[in-house]
Amino acid sequence: MMYITKMMIEIRNLLQKVGQSSAVTLPSIVVIGSQSSGKSSVLEAIVGHEFLPKGNNMITRRPIELTLVNDPDARVDYGEFPDLGLNKITDFSLIQKNLAELNMSVSDTDCVSDDPIRLIIHSPRVPDLSLIDLPGYIQVAGENQPRELKRKISELCDKYIRGPNIILAISAADVDLANSTALQASRRVDPRGERTIGVITKMDLVDAEKGVAILTDKQYPLRLGYVGVISKLPSQSGLFKRDTGNLLAIISRNEKAYFNSHSAQFGPEANVNIGTVTLRKKLMQVLEQQMSSKLQSTTESIKRELEETTYQFKVQYNEEPMTAEAYLAESLDDFKHLFHKFASSFGRPQMQELLKSALDQRVLDQLAARYWNKPIEDLYTAPNEPDSIADLPKADPKSPYWHLQLDTASSALTRLGVGRLATTVVAAAVQANVDKLIDKSAFAKHPSVRQVISEAAATVLDDRAYTTSDGIEFSLKPYKYEVDIQQQEWNQGRDHVSGVLKGELDQCQTAMKNLENAVGGKKKLKEVMSFVDKARKGEIIIEGESRNGAGGFSAALLARGREAVFLRDRADIINMRMVAVKSRQCKAMENKYYCPEIFLDAVATKLTQTAVLFLNVEMLNDFYARFPREVESKLGEQMHAGGIEKFAREDPRIRRHLDLIKRKELLELVLSKTETLNRLDSHEKGIDGGF
Ligand code: GDP
Repeated sequence: MMYITKMMIEIRNLLQKVGQSSAVTLPSIVVIGSQSSGKSSVLEAIVGHEFLPKGNNMITRRPIELTLVNDPDARVDYGEFPDLGLNKITDFSLIQKNLAELNMSVSDTDCVSDDPIRLIIHSPRVPDLSLIDLPGYIQVAGENQPRELKRKISELCDKYIRGPNIILAISAADVDLANSTALQASRRVDPRGERTIGVITKMDLVDAEKGVAILTDKQYPLRLGYVGVISKLPSQSGLFKRDTGNLLAIISRNEKAYFNSHSAQFGPEANVNIGTVTLRKKLMQVLEQQMSSKLQSTTESIKRELEETTYQFKVQYNEEPMTAEAYLAESLDDFKHLFHKFASSFGRPQMQELLKSALDQRVLDQLAARYWNKPIEDLYTAPNEPDSIADLPKADPKSPYWHLQLDTASSALTRLGVGRLATTVVAAAVQANVDKLIDKSAFAKHPSVRQVISEAAATVLDDRAYTTSDGIEFSLKPYKYEVDIQQQEWNQGRDHVSGVLKGELDQCQTAMKNLENAVGGKKKLKEVMSFVDKARKGEIIIEGESRNGAGGFSAALLARGREAVFLRDRADIINMRMVAVKSRQCKAMENKYYCPEIFLDAVATKLTQTAVLFLNVEMLNDFYARFPREVESKLGEQMHAGGIEKFAREDPRIRRHLDLIKRKELLELVLSKTETLNRLDSHEKGIDGGF
């Protein structure tokens, strides 16, 4: 005997791990009593330690689910708060402090909470018991106590004193039993007194005759009977230290002395239950019997739970196994696969396109600065002052002015820091692609891993950025002095730049449309533009244009008008240049001074090609080789620090899957335990019955 409680408590702890199912409730001993009835003293005597919070205002606000575990191997007694992750607290005053703090975490407005504090105490001296300490009933609500408190405590106690729990109803001997709140409450839910144990405390405070009379009470008979105790500690004499874990020995010695000195009343013939040791034994027996009687139904409930869980596993997950490790490995494979796909689709042509389009913009900048501009006053201006874009088709190939223009533009391109630009553009594109891959992969749901991978990419790319950029600049050095273009390159440039100019024109037109919409229509914009034009030509003199605008137009409107005039002029020039680029004259490479657009495009292409050759070897191939290794090593570190389980559980879908499997496994374990218990129990009953 006496193993059922132990195993059932173990089972309950296991069930708590799967999220206590309401269908499976195992009996506990619920301790109720009014304030000052001696409830804490009784509990502490049973445990053997002072561990409950005390003090004037210390009303228990949360139930304490106290599990006592008989642990013959424990060298010292210790407590654990499993929900707080606090293990092996050997100092019971610390347990007391923790309980007081947890108790006070319930606000005054809430008064009491039904969220239990779980405390497990291990000791070789305690029996296996499961006790629940509830807030003491309040007789008269005190001045400082909220009015609601009395009702709320009653409601909370009612919730716990339901079957199959055993009620330990504490009443003090010096209070008339008829007034015992604990017995009144127990009678409401257990009218026939079948699962209530009456504890009469403070037996030393009444006459021995009266004491015996209470214990043999016929008015409120309880099948499990009454036990009389004196659980007050003798006043500290200094001869012994109180909290030695042997509180029970001290109390029991004290009780013995008292009851022996009244042996006439409390002798064997009185046939009464007295003493805390007797009470403790009784609790063990009663709980064991209750557990045993619930064994069958508990097994049935667990079976049903398991069937339901197995069914859910089948319909929701098709019985697919899942572990956190497998999930990580699968996610990593999945990511690597995506990465390899990306690696085979992103190479030289893609880098070429990226870099070329970045350089196209620089070419346009040069054209705008040097050709599509208003006349530039320059020292080298030719005698006939060919300083306007309209003169370009007639540009004299020998004119130092046009030479200078083209040479400066071309040199500006080769010296703009193509190395830095190329590495930055390509690194940004690779990084953006890696981030997109993470989004597509299972890692999208794991922010911390997402960051690790993204940073791994940045680290590897960064590592090579400087040398790559330097290398590119070095390889471009010859172009900084002279760029030699072949006819075929010229032809390609001619084709390409037409597209670039077309794109620029489209952008001008879109911007113009936006301006029209912003000012309230084409007509309105035209009016402002014509005003701006006139002012520019000096046909209108704007005097003191202020914040209020001029000519009946607001300052904001005028600003848009100027922008529109600029866009129109730019579009006119681009249109003109598109015609020029397509012209017969621009077919011939010798006419490069007529067609700077084509020449600069061809230069940009040359720079791009050289840079990309270098980028491919120095940066991209290196990245493709090192990045997967870097990810694996960084992920390894992360998993080591944070745990694979924690990672896997970040994904709600995986968490549910893992939980269900864990629940199923635990229920299987619990069921096998209850079945063993059932067999042992019926075997024992069979033997008992047989003899
Ligand atoms: P609770 O409020 O019900 O938890 O009651 P306590 O255990 O704190 O006890 C209330 C008071 O009664 C304390 O001062 C105890 O020392 C005292 N007390 C408890 N049990 C006994 C007892 O058996 N005899 C005597 N004389 N006093 C007791």
